[in-house]
Amino acid sequence: MTEQVMHESETREFQAEAKQLLRLMVHSIYSDKDVFLRELLSNASDALDKLRLESMVDKELDVDTSDLHIELERDPVARTLTVRDNGIGMSRDDVVGLIGTIARSGTAELLDKLTRAKETQGSELIGQFGVGFYSAFMVADKVTVVTRRAGESTGTRWESEGESTYTVADVDDAPQGTAVTLHLKPVDTDDGMHDYTDTGVLRSIVTRYSDFLAWPIRMEVERVKPAETEDGESETVRESETLNSMKALWARPRSEVTDAEYAEFYKHISHDWADPLETMRLQAEGTFEYQALLFLPSRAPMDLFTRDAKRGVQLYVKRVFIMDDCEELMPEYLRFVKGVVDAQDLSLNVSREILQQDRQIRAMQRRLAKKVLSTVSGLVRSEEQADRDKYRTFWNQFGTCVKEGLVTDPDNHADILAIASFDSTRSADEQTTLAEYVERMPEDQEHIYYLTGRSREMVEKSPHMEAFTSKGVEVLILTDQIDEMWVEAGAEFQGKPFRSIAKGEVDLDSGSADDAADETAKEEFAGLLEWLRTTLSDHVKDVRLSSRLTTSPACLVGDEGDLSPELLRIYKQMGQPLPDIKRILEINPEHALVTGLRESHAKNADDPALGDVAQLLYGTTLLAEGEELPDPHRFAQLLAGRLADGLG
Ligand code: ADP
Repeated sequence: MTEQVMHESETREFQAEAKQLLRLMVHSIYSDKDVFLRELLSNASDALDKLRLESMVDKELDVDTSDLHIELERDPVARTLTVRDNGIGMSRDDVVGLIGTIARSGTAELLDKLTRAKETQGSELIGQFGVGFYSAFMVADKVTVVTRRAGESTGTRWESEGESTYTVADVDDAPQGTAVTLHLKPVDTDDGMHDYTDTGVLRSIVTRYSDFLAWPIRMEVERVKPAETEDGESETVRESETLNSMKALWARPRSEVTDAEYAEFYKHISHDWADPLETMRLQAEGTFEYQALLFLPSRAPMDLFTRDAKRGVQLYVKRVFIMDDCEELMPEYLRFVKGVVDAQDLSLNVSREILQQDRQIRAMQRRLAKKVLSTVSGLVRSEEQADRDKYRTFWNQFGTCVKEGLVTDPDNHADILAIASFDSTRSADEQTTLAEYVERMPEDQEHIYYLTGRSREMVEKSPHMEAFTSKGVEVLILTDQIDEMWVEAGAEFQGKPFRSIAKGEVDLDSGSADDAADETAKEEFAGLLEWLRTTLSDHVKDVRLSSRLTTSPACLVGDEGDLSPELLRIYKQMGQPLPDIKRILEINPEHALVTGLRESHAKNADDPALGDVAQLLYGTTLLAEGEELPDPHRFAQLLAGRLADGLG
């Protein structure tokens, strides 16, 4: 046992965000108050898992793990309820760090939203965020925690009335584990505040929310024992009752488990307060046997795109909890999938290092990923409106994340594209799948057209879009950063290659009359084009006539195989600067600025003012794309000069 210094009792302030969350709990925005018990039981169960694991790994740890359990102790007279476990417990520092603060990312923003949200949205929002322990303050006006960490001799007593402060003090007679005592508010059934000292109430909450927990949840009950002889007296005995069945859901036959049970299990492992969007089960037989129970959440967590975002799948070995967030079980682009995988043939003290090298585990990951993708694919292809709606929700919440797989998981490339949806010029508010796009393609269209950009608005207004809009050709609008990376890598769907409308030549109409007109135009503009090539040679690699413009004077396009400016920017941000690639300036032979320039050039090719106009033309083209000007100061001077001339 470690030497410990005794601390004075002290009063401390909750961290600002914790205070805000507590206030919300005290003024309970959540109408179903019974869930506080689910949260406390869930924590207790986790603490027991952790103790069993630690005692397996750390042989020195001197603890008795022979009767790990949870106990509900009620006192109807004092109106208290205690949830006690003999799990891992907390040190004083743990108590202060874990209970007095909220360390999760995104907390501040969420609280902000919550405080502004209306009643009804509040409970929705809180689901994005397990409030856990604090939910005790929905039903209690004072909470006392007495805890002692396994292996330590001194315990800690924590107490708070849910206002801005709490007290912590050392105690020397705390049993190992944690006891959370709630000093209950008065019963108010209209407000969902039930009598949480009543055995019937407690029994029904446990069966509803926590039946599957792997540890016994015990409660002392009174039972009337009938008299043994006819004239004897009946007797009231106190006995301990186990309230939960402790059956692992994934090991029970599918038909026996209800949706509600799955939903509660999901909430336990995910700390989500909302139901899952979809539940998946998988059973692998043979030499490497495992069962998986996986869930798609209905909402993306706040930290989906932060660096420390956790993977959601827990690993069990033969029903024993081994680890949370087991990265080896899910590829990163499916990190939002929650669930449990129970493997029969791994050792109980399997480590992360072993998992990383295990071939079977890699095969398992591939299989689980396929299961997720095929489940989503089932939703996409379903005839049922409800499934289609689920898919929409799914893609809306997780699509950006799933698309990372187009870059990182070449094996599933086609399957990922098949479940992807994209914005398109066809509709302002409805996305399209690629199958739908291809189905609408006219027979002679060979490519899936797309344009990338930073926002839908910028893409829609891009000059590149003009001919496509006027001819009614559908173009996909790709605005996620990740889109640049996979689409540029030569993607195709059902044999149709993707084609950027900002690259290469565009030939939307190939009628012979047009071809003849093209030839004449080319001759007329030959002189101007040649001169522009020289004048703008620092900026562009070629100048040519465009068939993609209707209203803009010019646009910049890339060569077929060139990286887009956006992608170059991304590489730069990632610290991999690539040399800038010059693009091609396409000019619109119908535009007054271009025809005017041609005439002036024909009249006097040496007029110095012509060079300025060429620079202005190039600059405005960049601006129209939302790009930065290479020399804004010079551009502004030139423009002011020209405007003054115009007025003079
Ligand atoms: P969450 O469970 O979502 O992490 P909580 O606020 O419920 O958030 O709990 C915060 C942390 O406090 C837990 O992650 C755990 O480390 C610790 N904790 C809570 N209850 C217990 C308990 N009964 N035994 C041991 N540790 C606990």
